[in-house]
Amino acid sequence: MSKIPPPLNPPRRTLLGPGPSDVAPSVLLAMAQPTLGHLDPAFLLVMDELALMLRQLFGTKNECTLPMSGTGSAGMETVFVNLLQPGDRALIGVNGVFGMRMAEVARRCGAEVVEVSGEWGRAFTPDDFTRAAAGQKFKLMALVHAETSTGVLQSMDGMRDVADACGALLAMDCVTSIGGIAVQVDQWGIDAAYAGSQKCLSCPPGLAPVTFSPRAADVIRARKTAVQSWYLDLNLILSYWGGERAYHHTAPINMLYALHEASRLALEEGLPEREKRHFKNGRALVAGLENLGLQHRVPESERLPQLTAIAIPEGIDDGTARSFLLNEFGIEIGGGLGPMKGNTWRIGLMGAASTPANVALCLAGISKLLEPR
Ligand SMILES: *Cc1c(COP(=O)(O)O)cnc(C)c1O
Repeated sequence: MSKIPPPLNPPRRTLLGPGPSDVAPSVLLAMAQPTLGHLDPAFLLVMDELALMLRQLFGTKNECTLPMSGTGSAGMETVFVNLLQPGDRALIGVNGVFGMRMAEVARRCGAEVVEVSGEWGRAFTPDDFTRAAAGQKFKLMALVHAETSTGVLQSMDGMRDVADACGALLAMDCVTSIGGIAVQVDQWGIDAAYAGSQKCLSCPPGLAPVTFSPRAADVIRARKTAVQSWYLDLNLILSYWGGERAYHHTAPINMLYALHEASRLALEEGLPEREKRHFKNGRALVAGLENLGLQHRVPESERLPQLTAIAIPEGIDDGTARSFLLNEFGIEIGGGLGPMKGNTWRIGLMGAASTPANVALCLAGISKLLEPR
């Protein structure tokens, strides 16, 4: 006889890592509401309201805006599998883990990928892309707006012009920017963007909002080959999210309630106010860390306010330090990835977790851990 485990009793933590972030209480309450059928008229209303709110969060009028079932990486795959066909060429910025992942996903779609390689911890300039394109044509150009692996904020200024010069659609990863800092899909001339629910929207992980410009939606409709992923095929999914409401896969009803509430909270606060809050708390954290003698990994003008990458000081063991913060202060922060593994901490102040109280708590924990023992 196998023993039945006791009911779940997860500990309370303060999530100050690269995501997931702390979830607002009303979002957890929304998830506990009664599950409806995916074609129930009351649920269809939730979908319609959510789709409209997602357009506001993306800064777009795109009709083709919807949440995909899956995490941020499912949003990434949705963009690449739908826009790329075997043999297409893609120009992809790689200066961190998520750029690397985009390039890998594009190659798996059968695309010929040209990587624009950049230094980890630095942003790209439009010239970096122009040089790598070397006068050639591409189907798609893609880059990460908020590189969570390095803490870099990528400006989109001038990127549309580069994409136009190489005849490419322009795609952007805004998993960590949406709901935190300005995302202006229409203003920046972005054709396809994907996001995630669990970073600055402060919703649990499990949904990936995506948006496609009318031009990108036309490219998907005109495909000659079927999208290799049945599950992520927008030509099929849009018959549920679009007019016909035809069954494709069962919508994750209660997750969609959660994203509805998280989106509502973000819009109710106001996106400019929310951005100000992220910058204010991010700056306070960095000032406090610098007071403790720690050094930022990213030049000031390229820093994300919601994710701070900080060099681990000499003589401090990464794993021991993070366990200390978790066990003594209930704080989760992130370690480094790739070349930053073992030498960098990634501290998130995302969504509901971006508060002066959390800045103070985090600084208290880190200052305690730096005390000579
Ligand atoms: C977290 C993240 C992803 C991947 O999202 P998952 O939810 O982990 O699948 C992609 N891009 C960026 C920039 C991210 O921060």
